[in-house]
Amino acid sequence: MLISLIVPCYNESAALPIFYKELCKVTEELDKYDFEFLFVDDGSKDNTLSILKDLSDSDDRVKYFSFARNFGKEAAMYAGFCNTKGNYVAVMDADMQDPPSLLPQMIDILETQDYDSVATRRETRKGEPPIRSFFAKMFYRLMNKMSDADIVDGARDFRLMKREMVDAIIKMTEYNRFSKGIFGWVGFKTYWLPFENVERVAGETKWSFWKLFKYSIDGMVNFSHLPLTIASVIGIVFTILAFIFVVFVVVRKIIFGDPVAGWASTVSIIMFIGGIQLLCMGIMGQYIAKMYLEVKDRPHYIIADTNVSDSNRIN
Ligand code: UDP
Ligand code: MG
Repeated sequence: MLISLIVPCYNESAALPIFYKELCKVTEELDKYDFEFLFVDDGSKDNTLSILKDLSDSDDRVKYFSFARNFGKEAAMYAGFCNTKGNYVAVMDADMQDPPSLLPQMIDILETQDYDSVATRRETRKGEPPIRSFFAKMFYRLMNKMSDADIVDGARDFRLMKREMVDAIIKMTEYNRFSKGIFGWVGFKTYWLPFENVERVAGETKWSFWKLFKYSIDGMVNFSHLPLTIASVIGIVFTILAFIFVVFVVVRKIIFGDPVAGWASTVSIIMFIGGIQLLCMGIMGQYIAKMYLEVKDRPHYIIADTNVSDSNRIN
């Protein structure tokens, strides 16, 4: 039985050695299983790649894929999925925020119980800036109302999956990837394993608030059509209001004649409706931009260097 661990790494030279040591320690006790570690170097600018090369020289479980540039964590995970052969596959961060020590328990659940995947969620957001937690909470609340994919608050990308689920994920070839949504969308029976939030051991986070904000908009656009529906509903409501207003104006003209008045209110109405129109066009634009990206059908990633001979170098 082969277990594959996919580890996206972007400028992780500080955390990698610590992570690898912990991984060795954990997997040593799981000697019933074979492991492969797929490290995906996502165009790092530090010496992440040379560390990976050293590790692969001394340990033949270590496989590395090095991207031609930074394609993002989503692309790195996808490259991992496309290149694994494991019966069980897990994605985990290189910074120990996805504790390798949970692995034995996760494997045990898949082996002994009737589940297809074991996912992890942080019970608390201890150590995170409160404002970030607040927006994250809002995002999950909104997202769950909006989309079919059920997305759990505090869910991490760290999950161990059976082969069937991985194959389903590989089939989702969309360019705009939002893994939490994809995992939820493909379904399968999932066991949720809570754990205490752990802070990153070394190096720093790659996610600025702005990057997270854009990622959350991506998530909503990718997994829901509700914004478009809202735009249509606003359109209908305004059409009805406009109709009533026209009747009102005509009737008033017939009864009272037409004194020139109401300049201020006219300007306000024009500006208000203009604003709403731009908003709705913006919403449509978001979807069109996504379509444009999908239609171009560019590869998700380009692997410049790897020690795996039969890898999907471009996908
Ligand atoms: N990562 C990546 N490409 C990126 C950004 C991040 O592969 O463009 C990796 C990173 O090396 C780490 C994981 O994704 O293993 C999670 O990133 P990070 O810990 O910075 O995010 P946070 O835990 O702060 O949300
Ligand atoms: Mg992290």
